[in-house]
Amino acid sequence: MDEGFEEIYTVRDDYKRFHQENTAFGRAMRAGKRGYVDPEAKLKRMKDDIPGYGIVDYAFSGAALTAAQASHSGRGNQDSGFYSWSPLGVTHKPEGVPRWEGSPEEAGRIVAKAGKFYGAVSVGFTELDKRWVYSHDSDGRPIVFEDVDEGYVTEEKAVIPESHRWVIAITVPMEVDEMMYAPTALNPVSNMGYSRMPVVAGSVAEFIRGLGYHAIPCGNDTALSVPIAIQAGLGHLGRHGRLITWERGPMVRIAKVFTDLPFEQSPLAPKGIIEYCEVCKKCAKECPSGSIPEGPRTYEGFSEANNPGVLKWYCNADTCLDYWREVGSGCSICFRVCSFTKERGITHGIVKWFIRNVPQLNRLWVWTDDFLDYGKMADPSEYWDLPYKRS
Ligand code: SF4
Ligand code: SF4
Repeated sequence: MDEGFEEIYTVRDDYKRFHQENTAFGRAMRAGKRGYVDPEAKLKRMKDDIPGYGIVDYAFSGAALTAAQASHSGRGNQDSGFYSWSPLGVTHKPEGVPRWEGSPEEAGRIVAKAGKFYGAVSVGFTELDKRWVYSHDSDGRPIVFEDVDEGYVTEEKAVIPESHRWVIAITVPMEVDEMMYAPTALNPVSNMGYSRMPVVAGSVAEFIRGLGYHAIPCGNDTALSVPIAIQAGLGHLGRHGRLITWERGPMVRIAKVFTDLPFEQSPLAPKGIIEYCEVCKKCAKECPSGSIPEGPRTYEGFSEANNPGVLKWYCNADTCLDYWREVGSGCSICFRVCSFTKERGITHGIVKWFIRNVPQLNRLWVWTDDFLDYGKMADPSEYWDLPYKRS
């Protein structure tokens, strides 16, 4: 494990594995609250002709979830669809052929290349740190480790083999252009990410199985994605509680694959993001529910939806979800306004170089970001008249 990890993601000794039923979604379900898209409110918005909430907009964002739903690999469906813990039978290592043998460095090279071909933005590798594996899944099943070859899930437990000592962290892209319409329903970006995640993670798992090894692909299920992604060198934790990458800022979703194929530890992402967030605070100021703190990082969260014991900015997941219900969408204003949410280009590349190397100038970039009105909401009544722009 890279020693620098504890420096950027400091964990107290009394940290306990998180129970997935305690996520804001799990807590809301236990309290008998409905999902955040209330059908009656949705109908009213459509009838009232509110820009960004029309029939076309809802159909657009809803359909972006097609691949996730049709493959039964929704937002966090453990061991189902493309996230199956058993081989899908797409690749076969014939009997009598020895499994692929290569160095951990070679394994990383071929798996990263294959993952990017399947649609990943970035692929990183780390040894499995059991602290990030949920103690229990979203159905309350304990997640345990046993000396078996292949992982499995029963009514009683989910079993990860002790041999699965490595994790592949994978990011898939989210689009900057459409994110500018947050918080309206005209923002299919997260849904599209959820559709990409099982395609890429499932394909990487099948690739590894075709080499003669075992693999468990996951979306939001089974383990916390953000610390795994940080440990695998893909980015750092932002003030808004999302992973921020140097390549695409927070505009990624994360999937992961547990495996018994050994990899070399990836280097950590270059520093500079946390230092920038310390002076920026834009997401905290713009969050309509006040869920993002403006103060320093702490070890304590707001409720049991936040697992304490890590030095970070805790987003109040309960009030955030309440606002989703109010606005009738996944909000995402914090993604939209984040200073790292930018299309790629030379100018932004130069600014990122300064953020990494000359943090004394950070306040200047914060001021410039506001001055140039970055992150301003786009006019939803214009979206369908504009040509498609890939971002
Ligand atoms: S999604 Fe919206 S409500 Fe939730 S933290 Fe981000 S800006 Fe705040
Ligand atoms: S808006 Fe600013 S403070 Fe918030 S996560 Fe992005 S860079 Fe950090």
